[in-house]
Amino acid sequence: MEKRVVTSKILEQVKNEEEVFWINPRFKKTEETLNQAPYTYTDIQEAEDRFQRFAPFIQLAFPETKEREGLLESEITAIPSMKKWLADTYQTDLPGDFYIKRDDLLPISGTIKSRGAIYEVLKYAETLALESGLLKSTEENYEVFASEKFNLFFSKYNLTVGTTGNLGISVGAMGRALGFQVTVHMSEEAKAWKKNYLREREVEVIEHTTNFSKAVEEGRAASKADPKSYFIDDEHSEELFLGYTVGGYRMKELLAQEGIQVDADHPLFVYLPCGIGGSPSGITFGLKHAFGDHVHCFFAEPTKMPSMLIGLETQQFDQVSAEEFGLGNLTIADGLAVPRTSALVAKLMNHDFSGGYTLKDESFKALLTNLYQQENIFLEPAAVAGLAGPFKLLNTKAGQAYIQKHELEDKLPHATHIAWGTGGSMVPDKDRYDFIEQGQDSRLKTKTAF
Ligand SMILES: *Cc1c(COP(=O)(O)O)cnc(C)c1O
Repeated sequence: MEKRVVTSKILEQVKNEEEVFWINPRFKKTEETLNQAPYTYTDIQEAEDRFQRFAPFIQLAFPETKEREGLLESEITAIPSMKKWLADTYQTDLPGDFYIKRDDLLPISGTIKSRGAIYEVLKYAETLALESGLLKSTEENYEVFASEKFNLFFSKYNLTVGTTGNLGISVGAMGRALGFQVTVHMSEEAKAWKKNYLREREVEVIEHTTNFSKAVEEGRAASKADPKSYFIDDEHSEELFLGYTVGGYRMKELLAQEGIQVDADHPLFVYLPCGIGGSPSGITFGLKHAFGDHVHCFFAEPTKMPSMLIGLETQQFDQVSAEEFGLGNLTIADGLAVPRTSALVAKLMNHDFSGGYTLKDESFKALLTNLYQQENIFLEPAAVAGLAGPFKLLNTKAGQAYIQKHELEDKLPHATHIAWGTGGSMVPDKDRYDFIEQGQDSRLKTKTAF
């Protein structure tokens, strides 16, 4: 592996596996970035409409979605005890309110992947059904997707995906419910329970002893060789991105329902766990359409795999890998274990992310265990990354500079901070206890470079 010449101070810290807080020097006003984006509000609306069309089918196939009439959505939960614990630990007061967005409770996969991956499977199924004439129009009642006839039709097609685990669960669960054959290429991080879960649903699981980027490469090549196979490509997929945007845009209604104001005097800060970048980017895009400049979005990554951070800082996007910095070892945050970001989303978000930060494994463990102890909420390791966000923003020089630049100082008492909880409800009890146990002796790192 060719070693990268380190060209900035922050990259030096990144290379040393220190926790950093990064402010995006290319950040621009929402109006400017949204006008230049290749996707518009109409694309978000089309994705929303498609989720709505499929809702009757989803209710039938997954009875646990009946409560929300087949829509895959989650609530927000205030976390006052965790806020206090974090404020004490970081020795930093957090004015304003602090919530977790509960995408850990999303039905079907128990992770944020229920938005992107499931959306792509639904769109592909709809396209096939329309092309074949099996579905006459998008006006039909989509309960027909649960019929024998549709199932038999889809059983001639294969869906393939490369994953650290959760993308595979989502594609596997929805793909099999529709009748598709599904093949999942798992990277070295993938947990045993995820493989078992998929095999129980007659999904073909191919285990790789290599990282995510390699698992995707293998999956893509295998799928390409089979004309009846469709590859869900986390590295390039527009559909995954568009599925996620819906989750961001729906926050407009959700926060209004909760009586939470977002405007010039009431800023919203959102902290998003980031793997390849599809979910944080899609959510950010939807949030920007909903709240414009009043929302500030930060991505959060493991120090071992800061792929978005290095992609944006070097402006090399997917042309730079964590391995070139001597990083890339296994991280506890398995859902974020992606050494190389996606060019599609990294370029798209180049001016939209306010910034990002990294966490050591030790911090992930401490956050997980203390969240459980303070709030009785279990999130999987990747999903706790957002919890450190407000404190990194407030107790770093870079964060303070951002607050000053955007004249946010006197608005902080009316601000809302949301850590996006991206997964966890499907983790089996045994694995939960192990994670909670592991974090007992872990100390949250409270020193951040910059
Ligand atoms: C996949 C995943 C993420 C990150 O999403 P990306 O699209 O890979 O950036 C965050 N948390 C969990 C639990 C995930 O499974």
